[in-house]
Order: sequence, then C-alpha cells, then structure tokens
Amino acid sequence: MDSSKPVITATQQPETWQEILQSCFTQADQFLSYLKITHQVPDKLAGATKNFPLRVPLPFAQRIEKGNINDPLLLQILPQLAELDHATGFTDDPLNEYTFTPRQGLLHKYHGRVLMITTSSCAIHCRYCFRRHFPYDSHRQSKQQWSSNFDYIREDHTINEVILSGGDPLNCSDEHLQWITGELEKIQHIKRLRIHTRMPTVIPQRIDSGLINWLTQTNLKVVIVLHCNHANEIDDQVARALAKLSDIKIPLLNQSVLLANINDNSKVLIALSEQLFDCGVQPYYLHVLDKVAGAAHFDLENNTIVQLYKELVENLPGYLVPKLVREIAGAPAKVPVMPPSW
Ligand code: SF4
Repeated sequence: MDSSKPVITATQQPETWQEILQSCFTQADQFLSYLKITHQVPDKLAGATKNFPLRVPLPFAQRIEKGNINDPLLLQILPQLAELDHATGFTDDPLNEYTFTPRQGLLHKYHGRVLMITTSSCAIHCRYCFRRHFPYDSHRQSKQQWSSNFDYIREDHTINEVILSGGDPLNCSDEHLQWITGELEKIQHIKRLRIHTRMPTVIPQRIDSGLINWLTQTNLKVVIVLHCNHANEIDDQVARALAKLSDIKIPLLNQSVLLANINDNSKVLIALSEQLFDCGVQPYYLHVLDKVAGAAHFDLENNTIVQLYKELVENLPGYLVPKLVREIAGAPAKVPVMPPSW
C-alpha cells in the first residue's frame, strides 16, 4: 500500500472491485504486519521489486494463513532476495514473445488465434510471471493502435479466436471490454473470445452484474481461462463468483504453474483439481515454469515433475488431470511433457 494510502482496518474495508484494486498492499512491511508475520524486510529487496513491485489485493491476502511465512499463497507473491540471483538459462523473455508481436499490443504465436495485450496491469503480482519483464510501456495502445490491431485480425481469415490477456483483461472497465468485443463482433471470421484472467479468484467481487451483462450480451462464444495454483485460493466467495459464470454457461478452464514449495506435491495438485471441478472449472493446463529471470527459485527438476504427474494420472479420473505442458519459444503449440516410460 502506498504510504499515502490509509491502512486497511477491519471496520473500513473496500467493497467494490475498483476500491479493492485501489487499496492493494504494495509495501512489504505493511503487508507482513497485516499477516502478523515478524520478518525483517531486507533493504536489498528494493532491487527485486523496483520494476515488479509487491501487489496483493485484500481478498487474496485474507486467504493467507496469519503468521505463516511458508503459506503457499504467500510464497507466490512475496518478493524474495533469490529474485536477484542470476540463474543460467533464465532470461527476461523466455518465450521469445518480443519477436511475435506483428503490431504493438498484439501477439500472434499460434495458428488460428491472436492474443491482445489488453492492459499492462494486474490485480496481483505473481513472482514467477513469465511476463514480469514484458515491455508493457511500448505496447500501451491508443485507440488508433487498437484500430490497427483490429485491421490485422480482419485481414487474416485464418484467425477465428481472440485471446484477451495482459496483464489481466478484467482489470479493464466493462465499457472498455464492451467496446473491444463490439469491434471484434464486426469481424465475421472471429468466433471465440478467450479471456485469460486471475481476477475471479483474486478479486471475486469483479464478477458483478456489469460484467455478467457484458458476457451475456456478446455474440462471441466466450471461454474463460482462470489461473489458480492451489486449492486454498478458492474460498466460498470465489466459489460463488465462479457459480455466477457457470450460471450463464461460460466454459471455465484453469491453468496452473508447477511451483517449488507451493504445489510440488501430488496431494496438493489432486486437491486443486477436485476443488476446481466442484466449482464447475475444468483443469486444463499444468505448466512447467517458464525460465524467466528472477523466478529460478520456483523451478523443479524434470524427474520431480514427471513423478508428480505420474501420481496425478494414477490417482485422478482422466478428466481431472490437466495436460502437463512446457512452452518452447517458436514451437507451433505447447509441448506435452510425457513421462519417458509411458
Ligand atoms: S496475474 Fe497473470 S499476468 Fe498478472 S502477474 Fe500474475 S501470472 Fe502474471
């Protein structure tokens, strides 16, 4: 939280999603004090947070166990000194995305679909994010740039799906999202709109009547891909938000990232798949960590990954097992990781 902003108190809590976004924790010492964790924040941490500061909204913070520095939700978002280590093979742009941007704010990596960088901002900053160094400033879009991107999509008839990503597209106002979908609806070959978002889990209040109206009014077939790594991220409020999306028949998928000390345990991953399915969400992808600079401490050995996945396959029905994949820069699709003996 900026020092100029009031500290959140039990009696004075933000209510709307916009108020919650405005009052996110951004100072490590205030955040840890809220969590009742006595932990000296090292001065050197400023280097890790300079370009990618701490950012945590209250609803997510409320799901972190008080006093537990090893809480699996906390470890996803707490800046660590390890981020300053230079690890071999970890780079600013592990997926070579900077070369797949035919226009500012538009990524065209795979056949049939394009990804629009809808916004640079997220409600939460995940320390392992593969876009943590993405040059969002040079992809900030004016209306003119948006229009040029719509032209690109209009001219390529092989594209039938547009992915709204970012940042988190649900950080944008309903009016802005309505305008984008209105423009896409005018392009005949666009059939589907995919939304990649962490908002329904980190700020479930975002799933309000305005958003539901937008989603029910568009002619495009909407698919929402959530990002959730641990069952503790889903509480009753999140479950209610997801139920609102299920009620309007939006397919809900989830992608997770395998993260050391957070979900590198088959029991945790099984609980996540079960919890997601109970909330109407289909486990979709389990990603091997992208080797982004500053995230090496989340990485796992290949043998560990394969063993974990084997345990998932042996203990869950097939429809609850997400696809284990690795992204390889330049590959025409995500690459499945298969245990060698299968
Ligand atoms: S919400 Fe998604 S885009 Fe934003 S920091 Fe987390 S992983 Fe990255």
